[in-house]
Amino acid sequence: MGAQRTIYMDHSATTYVKPEVLEAMIPYFTEHFGNPSSIYGIARYSKKAIDTARVQTAKALGADPDEIYFTSGGSESDNWAIKGVALANRKRGNHIITTQVEHHAVLQTCRFLKKEGFEVTYLPVDQYGLVDPVDLEKAITDKTILISVMYANNEIGTIEPIAELGAIARKHKVYFHTDAVQAIGNVSIDVKGQNIDLLSLSAHKFYGPKGVGALYIRKGVRIENLIHGGGQERKRRAGTENIAGIVGLGKAIELATADIPGHNATIKAMRDRLIKGVLEKIPNSRLNGHPEKRLPGNFNVSFEFIEGESMLLWLDDEGICASTGSACTSGSLEPSHVLLATGLPVEISHGSLRLTLGDVNTEGDVDFVLEVLPKVVKKLRDMSPLYQKNGKEGGCNV
Ligand SMILES: *Cc1c(COP(=O)(O)O)cnc(C)c1O
Repeated sequence: MGAQRTIYMDHSATTYVKPEVLEAMIPYFTEHFGNPSSIYGIARYSKKAIDTARVQTAKALGADPDEIYFTSGGSESDNWAIKGVALANRKRGNHIITTQVEHHAVLQTCRFLKKEGFEVTYLPVDQYGLVDPVDLEKAITDKTILISVMYANNEIGTIEPIAELGAIARKHKVYFHTDAVQAIGNVSIDVKGQNIDLLSLSAHKFYGPKGVGALYIRKGVRIENLIHGGGQERKRRAGTENIAGIVGLGKAIELATADIPGHNATIKAMRDRLIKGVLEKIPNSRLNGHPEKRLPGNFNVSFEFIEGESMLLWLDDEGICASTGSACTSGSLEPSHVLLATGLPVEISHGSLRLTLGDVNTEGDVDFVLEVLPKVVKKLRDMSPLYQKNGKEGGCNV
């Protein structure tokens, strides 16, 4: 046995860097290494490169370039948006609304703020992972200063009704933040039309480099700084700029948003064939997340009577890179907070698998997974006493 080739189906965890992106970055490690805060000629190359990336990023979001701030990634952007708005507006109120299915960068930040005297409401979701706008409106009080709802879920791929939620936030004059890390390149975003006040993104989720991201902050939003120091990013985010990274982000977001419908059509066709094949071939399996309102590359599935972790090891042995729940919880036996929030029982959520397709995948990859996965599931079930007892009757094949 042993892997002949690698089949990468974990694009929600990270992506490779596109050759055009890498090529754009390289000069900023070598000849254009100047510190953009300096005044001599070579520094001007770096400064100009940042300006270009800011324009590229703004264009992808429907924002103005001076509303874009570069950061070290999605986690920093989420921390900055939430802590920054909370601290700058605490005289107005101490209530934050978010959801039960957010990324840990949002959930842990809210947990930290709770210790600092803020109240946090975690909105529930339905069986598909969708937030109900009616629930949001009901949760708003005269103390609410911030609403943070992710654009698309990193585990189950569900796309939230962002424009509707944004309109409710605006109506009640509450700031609206969205973690759009998974959404870039998969849905078209218009921060103005969707009433988004703050938006987080991260380059390594759309074929850019790791360790660089951005926060969009609408003009006029009251927000404290998170990183204090020098006057970079218009005095709002200190630290010598990650020039090459920022250049890479700019190029990557331009490429990722150039033809979203075309990109989605190809990936969705492969993903849909994978979903159909797996659900048909493997009894007692169910799709997690919404059947239509989901990221084009996302497939999250639960198999009764098996452990997700052991499934990953067997798939790895065949060269298939996949994930259970989110990368942060892999390696621990904690069930996914997202799957539990959709009402999936603990024992079923343990047998969940996330396959996220992207640019590297081919129809051949889909064929290979459809050949290997049913065998892996069968092998694990044959070893499971629970399956011997219950599995062969009934089930939850939906
Ligand atoms: C990956 C991810 C993050 C964290 O981004 P980093 O750049 O890795 O810090 C935040 N939110 C979501 C939804 C993500 O998928």
